[in-house]
Amino acid sequence: MKRLEERFLKTSLKSKWILAVGATIFISYAIISVVLYIALQTWLLNNEEKNAVRTVDDMTSFFYAQERSVTIQNLQNNSALMKAILTQEQTVRIFNLDGIEVISINDITSVADFPKNEDITKTSISEQTVDGKDSFVVHQLVQIGPFQGIMQLIHPLTTFHSMMKYILTTIIIVGVGALFFSVSISYYLANLLMKPLVQLRDAMNLVRNDGFMAQPEFQYKADDEIGDLLHMYKTLMNELEIAFTKQQQFVADASHELRTPIQVIEGHLSLLSRWGKNDPQVLEESLHTSLAEITRMKKMIEELLQLARNEEADESKSADVEVAYNQVSKELKQLYPNASFELTVIGQREHAVITEHALTQIFRNIMSNGIRYNLNEPILQTTIQYTESAIFVTIEDNGIGIAQEHLPHIFDRFYRIDASRTNAISGTGLGLSITKMLLEKYHGEINVESMLNSGTVFVMKLYKKIE
Ligand code: ADP
Repeated sequence: MKRLEERFLKTSLKSKWILAVGATIFISYAIISVVLYIALQTWLLNNEEKNAVRTVDDMTSFFYAQERSVTIQNLQNNSALMKAILTQEQTVRIFNLDGIEVISINDITSVADFPKNEDITKTSISEQTVDGKDSFVVHQLVQIGPFQGIMQLIHPLTTFHSMMKYILTTIIIVGVGALFFSVSISYYLANLLMKPLVQLRDAMNLVRNDGFMAQPEFQYKADDEIGDLLHMYKTLMNELEIAFTKQQQFVADASHELRTPIQVIEGHLSLLSRWGKNDPQVLEESLHTSLAEITRMKKMIEELLQLARNEEADESKSADVEVAYNQVSKELKQLYPNASFELTVIGQREHAVITEHALTQIFRNIMSNGIRYNLNEPILQTTIQYTESAIFVTIEDNGIGIAQEHLPHIFDRFYRIDASRTNAISGTGLGLSITKMLLEKYHGEINVESMLNSGTVFVMKLYKKIE
């Protein structure tokens, strides 16, 4: 059994399907056929027995209806009437009480055995083989005028047997036909349904060997579970491809960006090792630059790690927007004492669906940019507006502004505008991309408007926590 199971598991899905359908139909049909066959056999046999008993009863009634003076001789001369009561196959014999045959009607079969040790006054029915044929044999005491004797009816079961043979042949023919038909249909269905799965397997193989570029087209267009599976596979592959490309881009960008500060530090250190260490001014300048580059690199690595981690959003958390704003403006006031911060609040205070850590980071990135990219005394005007559907935060600065052509790119990784313009301001080009990533994680949005030399406005939309 175990071996059989192992062999079954090893066969292809198509064979399993056909085998399972074939076996189920065959077993169900076999059970139904056996039950039907037995029921029919019992019913027909009962009918045959009833027919035999009915003939005996008819004969008895016939004898009873004769005149009291009727003799066996009279009956023998007039046997045509009695013949009419019997069927073609039945034979009736009448014996006297000593067991000697006195009359025989429709003499087709030989004499059957008498019941042994049985009361002859009672009607007896038995199944016997007479002349090689299964038959019902009925014995009954009869009164014909003054004569008393025993009537023996032999009722061969030939019609019953040929009927049963016919039924069995029909069952077998229909069964084989049904089995063949169901196996053909299941073969066709298995082929139809397995085809897309085989295609899917081949597609996966292709992607494994040749990468994401090798995306096949599926012909299966039905709107069912297999169609869904193929559609999901395609969507998943597209997403994977995007993620994979992004990852590759990210690694390329990161290694490129990290190479620059390392090269600067390397340059300064080799300068020092050759002749700079004896010149205090060169030494001082090189150390200063190297330290600044190391600080920038450290910040960049921290930010890169944060971007790479891109942890799952925790939507059960919420943050008070005003608290986050106050915390960041306080921090920045200490770092940039000449900067001033103005806050306007519109509407009823509510929490936003975002962690406090993420929200303070967003404020820190945007507000510090507004101060750093600023040649005036920095003024940051912030409006927090609570509306029916969301919380809008607008942060406006009076800084150097961003030219229109740069606006679509400032959220890209490592994007920094025109080195000569902001050369003095150190940065990594990652702050705004982290801001956008955090906002999108919590289904928020960010937009920017700016005018060169006049200032920049960032507008954020945050989702309200529903109490
Ligand atoms: P970083 O500030 O580290 O360079 P960001 O992603 O925060 O990186 O910003 C990307 C670029 O967008 C900056 O280099 C800067 O040129 C420009 N930028 C961002 N915010 C402002 C702003 N408020 N005013 C002017 N320029 C800005």
